[in-house]
Amino acid sequence: LPVHESVHQQERVCVDVLRPTCSYQSIICNFHRPKTGDALCKECFFWAFEEEVHHTITAAKLFTPGDYVAIAASGGKDSTVLAYIMKLLNDRYNYGLKLVLLSVDEGITGYRDDSLETVKRNEQQYDIPLKVVSYEELYGWTMDRIVQETGRKSNCTFCGVFRRQALDRGATLLEVDKIVTGHNADDIAETVLMNILRGDIARLQRCTALVTGSEGAISRSKPFKYTYEKEIVMYAYFKKLDYFSTECIYSPNAYRGYARAFLKDLEKIRATTIIDIIHSGECFSVREGIKLPTQSTCECCGHISSQPICKACVLLEGLNKGKPKLGI
Ligand code: SF4
Repeated sequence: LPVHESVHQQERVCVDVLRPTCSYQSIICNFHRPKTGDALCKECFFWAFEEEVHHTITAAKLFTPGDYVAIAASGGKDSTVLAYIMKLLNDRYNYGLKLVLLSVDEGITGYRDDSLETVKRNEQQYDIPLKVVSYEELYGWTMDRIVQETGRKSNCTFCGVFRRQALDRGATLLEVDKIVTGHNADDIAETVLMNILRGDIARLQRCTALVTGSEGAISRSKPFKYTYEKEIVMYAYFKKLDYFSTECIYSPNAYRGYARAFLKDLEKIRATTIIDIIHSGECFSVREGIKLPTQSTCECCGHISSQPICKACVLLEGLNKGKPKLGI
């Protein structure tokens, strides 16, 4: 629980009340918000958290009434809070959305099978229908088998490429208008760092966008773009949401883990690091005349790709030919 212990010892009244009609003036402050440092009681924190997400959604006009929206659901804290809050805001502000949970089963025994059980409970708890698509049915491979073939160095490359496409394929099957994902501010800052470290200017340009994929593909948005991971954990904890918190069994070698550790170190020195890095990412622009990949469709599977053959098809061909390093 990311609440600083000393805060509990302070007997302060909730003076930083944000809610317009707060009836909690007499309640002792529980903690300081990691994002702003405001001393808040629990109820005011919930209100501030929900209103900020609502503001992100409405300021960017992410939805129009009648939209059929798939919530990418893994059972983890981010997507569980996202499902909960999408339902809450849809009801509170009459967005007029039809919601569905969309999960991808990568076939990771001891991880995804357990987390999918959480999503199935969320389906009942939030009364939002669930659709699961699996790597096995889409590609004929599970991640467990891929790791057997390739070892544990490039598992996340396969998994990330396949998941991105699997989500699109699931969304196409459901015929939804839009996809929302639980990517939070920390995730986006990590991605900015990773793209700088790799020199991937095409992705660097796109990774801070609130909405992506509107050209031809089903658009994806990130309502938690400005939401700190710590606050998502606090929200889930205090709301007693049912989420799955175990790490993927193949994650220790993930490149992202190093970027995350670096970000945490920076945050200790400078509290605004996450938002600063997102802002930096937004400010990067590519010099005129630099050729960037253009989005078209894969000649093999017909899904969105910046190359004649998409990365998923190249990786799959390598696996099927017993040469898994082919596409890496
Ligand atoms: Fe897939 Fe890697 Fe994430 Fe595990 S850590 S779910 S292998 S991308």
